[in-house]
Amino acid sequence: MQYRVEGIVIRSMDYGENNKIVTIYTKTHGKVGIVVRGAKKAKSRHGSMTQLFTHGEFIYFRNSGLGTLTHGEIIQSHHVLREQLEMAAYSSYAAELTDRVLQEEDASGYMYEQLHACLTAIEEGKDGEIIIQLFELKILEAAGYGPNFESCTSCDNDQGSMALSARFGGVLCERCRYKDTSALVLNEGTLKLLRLFRRMDLRRLGAIQVKDETKKQLKQALRLLMDTHIGITLKSRSFIDQMDKFSI
Ligand SMILES: [Zn+2]
Repeated sequence: MQYRVEGIVIRSMDYGENNKIVTIYTKTHGKVGIVVRGAKKAKSRHGSMTQLFTHGEFIYFRNSGLGTLTHGEIIQSHHVLREQLEMAAYSSYAAELTDRVLQEEDASGYMYEQLHACLTAIEEGKDGEIIIQLFELKILEAAGYGPNFESCTSCDNDQGSMALSARFGGVLCERCRYKDTSALVLNEGTLKLLRLFRRMDLRRLGAIQVKDETKKQLKQALRLLMDTHIGITLKSRSFIDQMDKFSI
């Protein structure tokens, strides 16, 4: 059967001497694996379609297992994301999360739009760290772990200071905090932003400025949630961590 899909390359690997296998996150069919024959040859028509982050239209045949590309058109090559080190690090992390965490059949199109908006925002030079945190929240939600930042997950109180508990899947108020001694006490700015981020669609992300101190805590909060609920080791995240270490 022949398919025509719009998608973004989230993984690309060599296959045999001349071929590549790409994983495409599509708007309509979730994740799809496609063999691109001859992609590694210098004169290949489709070589550029196999580059990471390429956004394009892919036409392929598939009966069972992997598909085979018959034709492709690039919509956006996103080459900047491959050339600039910091952008490459953030984009790789977003692509790897999509590849490893999301289900094959996630065909709602919503996460596709979020990934697309995430890569576009990184390419536009918006704050990569913040964009990635927004994307992590979308991933948590898609995986069934959308955290509750609005009111205490134990007693529903929405007043006063809150601490983030990964185990409770959200915040705990001052009265209930004792239930999780490892909960992270959030400062006001962090709590406000987490509430805002949780509701925000990445497509509507405007200019955003966050104080360094708040940024640091946002990072701690997301790390806590991701480690508890997603808990997989990603090559691309170790790279971001290394990068952070050297930029201090
Ligand atoms: Zn409470």
